[in-house]
Amino acid sequence: MRSFITRPRALAVLLAGTALTFSPLGGQATAKLPVDKLPSADCFVPPAGSAAKGGRGADTREISVAEQKAIEARTAQRLKERSARGIAVPKGALAAASIPVYVHVMRDAAGNGDVTDAQITNQIAVLNKTYGGQESSQAANTGFTFSLAGVDRFNNSNWHKDKQSSTYRKQTRKGGANALNIWLVDFAYLGIATFPWDYDRNPGIDGIRVHFDSLPGGSIANYNLGETATHEAGHWLGLYHTFQGGCTSTNDEVSDTPAQSSSTNGCPEGRDSCSLPGLDPIHNYMDYSYDTCYNQFTPGQSTRMSNMWTAYRA
Ligand SMILES: [Zn+2]
Repeated sequence: MRSFITRPRALAVLLAGTALTFSPLGGQATAKLPVDKLPSADCFVPPAGSAAKGGRGADTREISVAEQKAIEARTAQRLKERSARGIAVPKGALAAASIPVYVHVMRDAAGNGDVTDAQITNQIAVLNKTYGGQESSQAANTGFTFSLAGVDRFNNSNWHKDKQSSTYRKQTRKGGANALNIWLVDFAYLGIATFPWDYDRNPGIDGIRVHFDSLPGGSIANYNLGETATHEAGHWLGLYHTFQGGCTSTNDEVSDTPAQSSSTNGCPEGRDSCSLPGLDPIHNYMDYSYDTCYNQFTPGQSTRMSNMWTAYRA
């Protein structure tokens, strides 16, 4: 049985092994690390188009400034092309899409790692609450809503541990670019996501992998209100971490999320890690704070997600 006390240690032990066996095929992914997150490993971003080799060093990188620039340029170009084809959102409006969600419960051979239907229902409710801006008067309503389109359950001990992840995702993924696929697994991370600009190159692995015990009612202390899925879906909709780029004005490409030097742990009210204006956005879903600390996306993030949706998923 798992317990609150032993869980972080167990996750720490698993960390290196998971990094070694993770083999993305062409999808840039980014991860929210669990409670034992290491200062030098904020973000698990495997090299695009290559299998992971060599452990943490080679598997962990951040998106470079040059890459980030290229992604922005490509997105702007896509928006132009789509607008010419009549796919556009009026200025000042949001895409306001309804997103079908497919949940894949990857249990082991003995059935461990299951979640209840109620937990899944509650997880969808958390997505709607957080994307609806209902956790704070400061929160933006992103315009996105989520509806459960299907649940399937598998018994496969490798898949449960997120092994052969490219294979299992390709075999089980449902829907098109607009469908959010959530695979519930037991791994060393709270979650890992693919970005929307990678969909065309590798649609079969598109979606988010989330630790099954991070769902509402799960057993990971401080991270069991279902907001890991909110965070990972944020990446899936094109958001970076609020600490992307550190203390730079470009930062996460969103102007109303103040720069922060590094990820936040817990809920340190008043944290101010950069000399640039504004306190660290510790309540933002795209930081690493506790679920209880999270309460908002910003209007700027809503606009970015809307643009990303229009460019890559509409
Ligand atoms: Zn993340």
